[in-house]
Amino acid sequence: MRTQIPQPVIATLAALEKAGFEAYIVGGCVRDLLLDKPPKDWDITTDARPEALLEIFPDSFYENTFGTVGVKVPPFLPGKTDTREHDIIEVTTYRSESGYTDHRRPDSVTFVSTLEEDLARRDFTMNAIAGKVTQPEKNGQEKSSRTISSEECEITFIDPFHGQEDIRAQKIRAVGVATERFSEDALRMMRGVRLLSELSQAPKGGTKSASPWVIEETTLSAIRSEAKTLSRVSQERIRDEFSRIILSDNAMEGVALLQSTGLLASIIPELEEGVGMSQNLHHIYSVWEHNLRALATCPSQKLEVRLAALLHDVGKPRTKRGEGYRATFYNHDHVGGRMTRAILTRLRYPKPIVDKASLLVDQHLFYYNVGEVTEASVRRLIRRVGLENMDDLMAVRIGDRLGSGVPKAKPYKLRHLEYMIEKVSKDPLSVGMLAIKGTDLMGELGMTPGPMIGAILDVLLAEVIEEPKNNTKPILLERAALLARQDLKLLRKQAQEKIHEERAAEDAKIKKGHWVE
Ligand code: ATP
Ligand code: MG
Repeated sequence: MRTQIPQPVIATLAALEKAGFEAYIVGGCVRDLLLDKPPKDWDITTDARPEALLEIFPDSFYENTFGTVGVKVPPFLPGKTDTREHDIIEVTTYRSESGYTDHRRPDSVTFVSTLEEDLARRDFTMNAIAGKVTQPEKNGQEKSSRTISSEECEITFIDPFHGQEDIRAQKIRAVGVATERFSEDALRMMRGVRLLSELSQAPKGGTKSASPWVIEETTLSAIRSEAKTLSRVSQERIRDEFSRIILSDNAMEGVALLQSTGLLASIIPELEEGVGMSQNLHHIYSVWEHNLRALATCPSQKLEVRLAALLHDVGKPRTKRGEGYRATFYNHDHVGGRMTRAILTRLRYPKPIVDKASLLVDQHLFYYNVGEVTEASVRRLIRRVGLENMDDLMAVRIGDRLGSGVPKAKPYKLRHLEYMIEKVSKDPLSVGMLAIKGTDLMGELGMTPGPMIGAILDVLLAEVIEEPKNNTKPILLERAALLARQDLKLLRKQAQEKIHEERAAEDAKIKKGHWVE
């Protein structure tokens, strides 16, 4: 195969060969080249030991735990916009792995002497192909070392496990005996599902690929039989693969496959409670299928929003009352919000992701009916959710609606809500938007710094959310002077009630109409 190879990759391979070692490109980059996709990163495998690598590449570092040396090269990878000083090419010494007692990482790494032994320890045949890169004869002038370019090279493949055949047939097949490979490292099963979700990218233009990728049969049945051992893999490794599935074009198919193979039970067992659980007259899908479809139709590409779409009804199985058309799921939004927090915390997602996704699940059921809902209630909704989160909440709701089989993505109701949000977004929605500040209370009313000031501002906010035209300095100061005479506890209670009392009224409407989208 002749193809373009970035200069830093050519230079790294050349430096190894010049020092008398073997060097090949390997793994994901070779797979991507064969698929005619630009590789995300480039990995090199070699018979040089880490100590030798550190000598050949002075600007490199030894990632001790994995026996991999990172070589710093001038930035060349596409698709990254930040101004970074260098990219890393990972160079790994031929090795085999032995003993995975904790199902997380090998107990020890043994260096081996041949490329074939190294390829044999890799997960799937399509990832176990090495490429020997031959530089073309340089004709004429040398390129300046400062320009990062690609050069057309000849690549010869070393492919003892017939990965190219599997790539052509769009098959994901374990290297060697599948059950053994999965019992060595259970994460490989999830990598298989992740690769499937990522590889079956829908071609541009919207229609899905005519022949999707599949997991080869023996490999698939090995995943089924070994699925339980995934529970011994660290949550962080599981999380990283899970996120990639959620963000892929085929997120729904990927998560469905996690469930049907038994892997989901070790990731988010709570979602399985909804499998086969019927809903009520508003729904044609089971709770599980509706969650999946909400993920598939959620228009956002943000991880936290997509997680919220998948988990938005996770609280339904635990709140279901009654059966058949009249079944109800009161409070499933808040129960689901709490479950989402527990699930994502367990999976070690960073706090901002956990906070955002659980807020979106908790608030996904907001009541909105054109004509019935006032501007003040829209301001209260924004106050609860945060103006900066409204687009994301809307994306969850669109997934929720489309995922229930309702044909229009943005029915009139949601479009009207967007208009209302726009309209009230200049109104006071947070303490910072009030016409007076804490310093005014101290300066004009002679108050001393303390919790009383915060409590007064909260009450004032609750009041101007109902009546924005009162957001003027004289009116607020006059009101503050009255409030300053009240008890602190009472004030706090007042602020809370103002914001939440109407919510209770809205919840009641939701219950009354069995309005459980
Ligand atoms: P991508 O970079 O698109 O995520 P990749 O296949 O390159 O895909 P990496 O995690 O970069 O994935 O791994 C590089 C290579 O290392 C893989 O192609 C595979 O050959 C090998 N590999 C990675 N993880 C494992 C594993 N758990 N078990 C066996 N081999 C693995
Ligand atoms: Mg890679």
